[in-house]
Amino acid sequence: MLRRFPPSPLVRRRPPGFHRDPFLAMETMSQQKFTSFVDQTWESSIVPQLVDYIRIPNKSPAFDKGWAEAGHMDRAVDLIADWCKAQPIDGLQVEVHRLPGRTPLIYMEVPGDGDDCVLLYGHLDKQPEMVGWFEGLGPWEPVRKGDKLYGRGGADDGYAAFASLTAIRALKEAGGKHARCVVIIEACEESGSYDLPFYIDALKDKIGTPSLVICLDSGCGNYDQLWCTTSLRGLAGGDVRIEVLTEGVHSGDASGIVPSSFRVLRELLGRLEDSSTGRILPKEFHMPIPAQRQRQAKVAGKVLGESLWRRFPWSPGMKPMAKELAELVLNRTWRPFVEIIGMDGVPATSAAGNVLRPFTTAKLSLRIPPTAEPKACVAHLKKVLTDKPPYGAKVTFSAEKASSGWNAPELASWLELAAERASQAHFGKGCVYMGEGGTIPFMGMLGEKFPAAQFFITGVLGPQSNAHGPNEFLHVPMGKRLTCCVAQILAEHLVRERTAAAPARAKKVARIGKKKPVKAAAKGKKRGR
Ligand SMILES: [Zn+2]
Repeated sequence: MLRRFPPSPLVRRRPPGFHRDPFLAMETMSQQKFTSFVDQTWESSIVPQLVDYIRIPNKSPAFDKGWAEAGHMDRAVDLIADWCKAQPIDGLQVEVHRLPGRTPLIYMEVPGDGDDCVLLYGHLDKQPEMVGWFEGLGPWEPVRKGDKLYGRGGADDGYAAFASLTAIRALKEAGGKHARCVVIIEACEESGSYDLPFYIDALKDKIGTPSLVICLDSGCGNYDQLWCTTSLRGLAGGDVRIEVLTEGVHSGDASGIVPSSFRVLRELLGRLEDSSTGRILPKEFHMPIPAQRQRQAKVAGKVLGESLWRRFPWSPGMKPMAKELAELVLNRTWRPFVEIIGMDGVPATSAAGNVLRPFTTAKLSLRIPPTAEPKACVAHLKKVLTDKPPYGAKVTFSAEKASSGWNAPELASWLELAAERASQAHFGKGCVYMGEGGTIPFMGMLGEKFPAAQFFITGVLGPQSNAHGPNEFLHVPMGKRLTCCVAQILAEHLVRERTAAAPARAKKVARIGKKKPVKAAAKGKKRGR
């Protein structure tokens, strides 16, 4: 049996039998055996595979124009697909799809009970190397230190395929059941998932209509409990170029007559953000923050405490941008902020002469609220930066990024309960809901393609795991527990289907009266979160 824990107040308010423990049916395996099965699969099989996977420099197409010829992506696909094919799961189909001129995609399907479907998502392409890896570590050099497996792409998001299939297998081994599962592993996520819509369309009939989408590419606030991502910020960006001369000239000769292109850039950026607070000034980049998200931000702030900001590798003496923890959560998840992520026209300090430089180009990355329209934001960004340039400087803006954010549909109570119970069972603590500051471009797209689906977005990218930066690591115990939680949510998803269809429940609800259970559930939800 799974370890029992007191049911949440929500459970007690349900009509009896509404929420059965799906693991009660698993007579073949105890919880200890279930968790040790997952633990051993990770240690003996998944971690060694991830070690080999980290060694492959399969950078996403945006960072490796010659990816198709280089063959790294194909090696990564083969590694993951071969492992998946070898899993002893009845009826498992593993297919590698290659649409002409596009990155490959691994499609897997496991038959299940009923006619419902769950879609599990992950990706296998990687971010580029970055500098700043500690001595002995490197992007393509897997190193295990205690709980952590260092190297590029292990946590973001190489583990997803392994964890998804292991969750399904562990559930089956434990005698549990699930709906038909479709696992999709794409190879274009870090470039904006521009190939994914074509595959979703091409595989539309095979996929069907999932009622639950599980995504393992997101973050977690700590490694102590299950985290559910409620929203993602979008992204608008591009290069702004300021030209003041046709060639560089002696700065002693020209300064005071020729304006610095960097100063013009500062003035243009001053239209976009308040330089003393970082607040983005034009109202077009702001969106109203829903009340539920504000409440959840307060809870997340409380759970995380100062670790919310202390987890960053601060320079000595640095302080965060706000004191209120809930404000920091909202800053990070619902408010726009800009960073200059690259510059041209500025020599390295070691090669700098006294020259008034002819131009400055800055690459801007503007994070936008989950519900903001990215194309409109990019258009407005261009307008703000290029309108009436100071001194008649030649200012051009080349739009580059326009990625949608995402705000989760309201969580169904069965899923809220399932997540809570899974978190309690495998972490001993409740599930926490928080937005993420980053962007997962395909989420908006999946939300549109499957408007009736519930979304459980989670991941292992927690404190210091540093996806996209140096010293990325996968927190192995988090990966194991998350695998257990996914198995449990799959089981509870199926139970939900059966109970929802059971006439007994409908009768009971009708007898109690329509208003009462709704009110009770709403009340419980408010208290619980
Ligand atoms: Zn990712």
